This record gives sequence, structure tokens and C-alpha cells, in this order.
Amino acid sequence: MRFGPKSLRSRLTIWHVFTFGIVLIVYISCATLLQYWQLTRQLDHAEIQDMVTVEGLLYLGPTGELRLHQEYFNNPQSHLLIDRLLEVRTPDGVVAFSSDQLHGRTLGGLPFQGEGQSGFNGRRVRLGDGTDVYLISHAHQIQGRPFLIRLAYSTSPLIKQVKVSLGILLVVLPFALVAAGFAGHRFVSQVLSPLEVMASRTDQITASRLHDRIPVECPDDELGHMAMVLNDLLQRLEESFDKLKLFTSDVSHELRTPLASIRSVGEVSLRRELSPEQYQQVIASMLEEVNQLTNMVNTMLTLGRADAGQLELHQTVFSLNDLLKDVTGVVGILAEEKEQTIHMVIEGNSYVQADRSFLRLAILNILDNAIKYSPSGGSICVRMKDMESPSHSVELSVEDDGPGIPEQSRERVFDRFYRVEKDRSREAGGAGLGLAIAKWAVEAHGGKIGFRPSAGIGSTFYVQLPRA
Ligand code: ADP
Repeated sequence: MRFGPKSLRSRLTIWHVFTFGIVLIVYISCATLLQYWQLTRQLDHAEIQDMVTVEGLLYLGPTGELRLHQEYFNNPQSHLLIDRLLEVRTPDGVVAFSSDQLHGRTLGGLPFQGEGQSGFNGRRVRLGDGTDVYLISHAHQIQGRPFLIRLAYSTSPLIKQVKVSLGILLVVLPFALVAAGFAGHRFVSQVLSPLEVMASRTDQITASRLHDRIPVECPDDELGHMAMVLNDLLQRLEESFDKLKLFTSDVSHELRTPLASIRSVGEVSLRRELSPEQYQQVIASMLEEVNQLTNMVNTMLTLGRADAGQLELHQTVFSLNDLLKDVTGVVGILAEEKEQTIHMVIEGNSYVQADRSFLRLAILNILDNAIKYSPSGGSICVRMKDMESPSHSVELSVEDDGPGIPEQSRERVFDRFYRVEKDRSREAGGAGLGLAIAKWAVEAHGGKIGFRPSAGIGSTFYVQLPRA
């Protein structure tokens, strides 16, 4: 389950503000730490300089007590150095000098081992009254006597300055976040606006408006790419829809003619008194139409199941020569009826791995067409040869001396319900599905089917199949 706002715009804006807020907080933390570090370094430098000055101004009085020239305190170096605290101890820890600002407090207690011996030692110290100071120690000889000089500045001006800067940044932070929110919202709205246009346009596309397309504002960006992908999808849908519409109208058309013929034959015979033989003839002609209808519906069902991927191919390895003999045996009777001769030019014996019944149907349809559309007394040549390219393929071609196929129809003869000469083909009993199913069967076995014009008149249909 998803929490938070549903709209992508709001979610992106919140993410933008959230990320911006984190970046700002990290930036403020780093800037504050850097400022603190820089100020501490400044303090350290100032104290070292001050220490050198102090060392020059310390001297021993006539009775051996340690004194400091008074002008030191009249010369504050910067606003950071106002609270100068000075304490000088002997090596055994006795306080030899203590500045007035210390008001009797000690600066850091007894010296530790090696304090101030190796240059200027700096450290943070908290005084007895809770004042935080930055303390520098340095061992120094005054008129031949060793002393440990401690000089400290209060860190409160520094902390105060850091706090003021931090406070200003933190006060500005919410305003910056609000501004980032507004800017982010505007930016996201602008970026997503083509998406909204796409959504509303897609929403308007119905089955009757599949020709509509989504506007592509910028083809190079991701949204433009998505719009193009959606347009391609619409294009494919439109093509499928058109095919489906054409198919439906073709089917209705194909069914209407035989049904009308059955109906008229029935009506006419009912109106007349006929002899039993005449009734037999009427029923036989009606059955012939019914047979054609049944064949057509069966073929359509096969194609429909093939389209849906529901047809299972039961592949076996068999000889193409045997299949050819089988098919020519079947169509031979039809050829004999039309006094046509079938020549066979077979080179070698090729085996293929395929579903025998579907391949048989494909070759049968091609040969049947050659016989159907060739004139009586014509000749048909069936050739089979191994191909050089693509290698391991075999080509089977059927050449006839019929009317041929006009150039503009050559691509379309494999379409469902397409007939070059509608009336003549219907007379011959064809619904324009024979080559469509042959194409499916050949392609389902990784083969290729096509048409090539013959040298003179007539047509040559070929089938190329991979050998087993
Ligand atoms: P049909 O069942 O109508 O023959 P097909 O799909 O087998 O349908 O063929 C489609 C169309 O291609 C046919 O209607 C016919 O016009 C044309 N055709 C097919 N084979 C030949 C051929 N050998 N010679 C001339 N025309 C052909």
C-alpha cells in the first residue's frame, strides 16, 4: 500500500523539497563547522602574536617580582581579544603574575609535564566560574629566569558569532524550502504537462477514432519517446482493427452468397411440384453448397486457431517426394477431367521435418489452384530441387500455363478472401482462403512461400522449406 499524496506532481514536489532540505541542512552544518574552525584558527594566531607581545612586555621588578608594562592592556587587538587573561607561573607552579581580569581565578591549574616547552601549546579550558577560554602556554625566560606564560581568550564572542550566523541560516531555511517547493511544483507541472495532454488525448481515442494520434512535442526526450511508442501501438491496433473489419465483412459476404443460393433453390423447388428425381437433384445441389460452406468455415476456424497460436504442429520427418506423389495422386483425377498433364521434375530425395497434414494441405491448395485456373488441355510442371541459398533448403515449385496473376495482385493473393477475379474464382469453388492457409502452414515450418511470374503466360508458385 502506498502512503502520501496520489498525484505524481505532489510526490515529486515533496521529494524535491525533502532532498533540497537535506542538502541545505548539510550545507549549513558544514558552513557552521568551517566558520567555527576558521575563527578558532584566527584566535590561535592572535593569541600567539599576543603571547610574543606579552613576553616582550614582562619584566622583573627591583624586588624580583614579575611586572607587565601597562600599555599592553590599553591596546585591544580586535573585538575577539577583549577578554585577555594572563597568568605567569614559575616552573614549580607558583603563580608569579595574574592579570586583573582573572579576578583571583587561576588559569588551568598546575602546569603539566612539558607544558609550553615545545612551542605554543593551545587547548580549551573551562575556568572555575564556567567561562570557556582558549588557552595558550609557552615557556619563556625573563631576564634569565624560566617562567610558564599562559594567555587565554574567552571563546564566548567566537561562539556568539557562530551562533548568530547559524541562527540567520536557520531562519532563512524555511523560506528557502517554501521557495523550493513553489519552484519545484512549477517545474514538475511544466515537465508533466505533455503527459497530461497525452492522457487526455488517449482518453478520447475510441474504436472509431483509432486514426487519432498523440501529439509528440519533443521526439528526443523520454515523454516524446513514450508518445511515439503509444502512436506505434495505435498504428498497429488500427491496422489489426481494419483487418478485422475487412475480415468480418468478407466473411459475411462469403456466407451470404451460398446461403442465398440454398434459400432460392429451396424456395423455387417448394413452389413447384417436382418428381422424386428432381427433388434429389435439388437436395444434392443444396448439399454441395453446404459442403462448400462447411469447408470454408473449417478453413476459417483453422486460420483463427492458428492466429491464436492454438494449433499444435505434430512434426515428423518424412520424404517430400512421397508427399508429392500422394498429393499429385489426389489432384491427378481433377487434372485428368480437364485433360491437363502434370510433369514432375524431381532432383534427389529431400526429407523435411514438419506436420505432414498441414504441409500436404498447403501443396494441395497450390496444385489445386494450378489445375483450377489453367485452361483445359494445359500442362502443369512440378519441380523439386535442393537450393544453394539458403543452404539446407529445398524448393518446390508449381508452374502452370493459366492466366497468371496481374502485378498489382501478386502481393495480395496470400491475403484471406482475396481473389483476382472474384466471380470466376467463386464459380471454381474458391473462397480466397487456399493460399492464406498455405502461407500460414509453410511459414509455421520456417519456410517461405511466394509467386514468381513465368517466362511466358501462367504463374509459378514456390515453397522453400528447410531440410531435415
Ligand atoms: P481460391 O480458393 O479462391 O482459389 P486462393 O487463396 O487459393 O483462393 O487463391 C487466391 C486467388 O489467387 C484466387 O482467387 C485466384 O484469383 C488467384 N490464383 C491462385 N492461384 C492461381 C493460379 N495458379 N493462376 C491464376 N490465379 C491464381
